[in-house]
Parts: sequence; structure tokens; C-alpha cells
Amino acid sequence: MNHVDGTTLTYGHPPPAQPPAAATGYQCAWLEKQSRCGEWFPTLAELVVHLGEIHEACGTANKPLVCQWDIGGSPCNAKFRRDNFKRHIQTHFGIADVCEDCGKSYSRPDTLKKHVKKYHPRQ
Ligand SMILES: [Zn+2]
Ligand SMILES: [Zn+2]
Ligand SMILES: [Zn+2]
Repeated sequence: MNHVDGTTLTYGHPPPAQPPAAATGYQCAWLEKQSRCGEWFPTLAELVVHLGEIHEACGTANKPLVCQWDIGGSPCNAKFRRDNFKRHIQTHFGIADVCEDCGKSYSRPDTLKKHVKKYHPRQ
């Protein structure tokens, strides 16, 4: 059984580096001293606990966190508050692209970007 996302079968190409989350679990891609953590977790909830405990990635009520999730070799760098943490991490698994400020979800990252630009412009 191949996991093929598009309509085109691409034989001869290597499969994506990360297998679908639902099939195998959730891999931690937090960058710790510039290298990926790489631990696997059966559920997103466990991964989120791990991020908080091991990577101290849960922040505080007053202090936003800067996401160190590895995106093609560089950190995500999104800022978020504790309340938005799980939701934000979800987006790294393609569960949904959710606006960290208001919770709206988008199927495409660039659509979300446009939304953020329009409704939550950076100072
Ligand atoms: Zn980790
Ligand atoms: Zn992130
Ligand atoms: Zn929003």
C-alpha cells in the first residue's frame, strides 16, 4: 500500500521524509542545538507534553514562545502563547493550518498567511 497524496503516481521518487501522521504517530521535529529531536509519539497529546517537558516549549501566560519546529532545516519561528501551543503544533502535521490569533483554520498555508496579514498585521 502506497500513501499517495496527489492524483499522480510517482514511481521512482523517494517517499516523503515523514510518513503520514495517522499511520505511525507523531515525530518531534523540535530543533535543539540545531538538530532535530526526532522522537516518536503515538498521540499528539503525548508529543505536546514532551515538548513542554523536554524542550520547555510550553511558555507562560505572559511570555510567548518562539517555535523551533524544524521546517526544511530552519526553525518555524512562529510566536505563540501557551493556549495556542497544541493548535500550532498540529499545523506542523498538516492537520489544519490554524490562525494562532483567532483559531480560524485554512487548508492552505498561503491562505492563512493572507489572513494573518489582513487581520493580525505585525507591528
Ligand atoms: Zn522532542
Ligand atoms: Zn511552528
Ligand atoms: Zn486570525
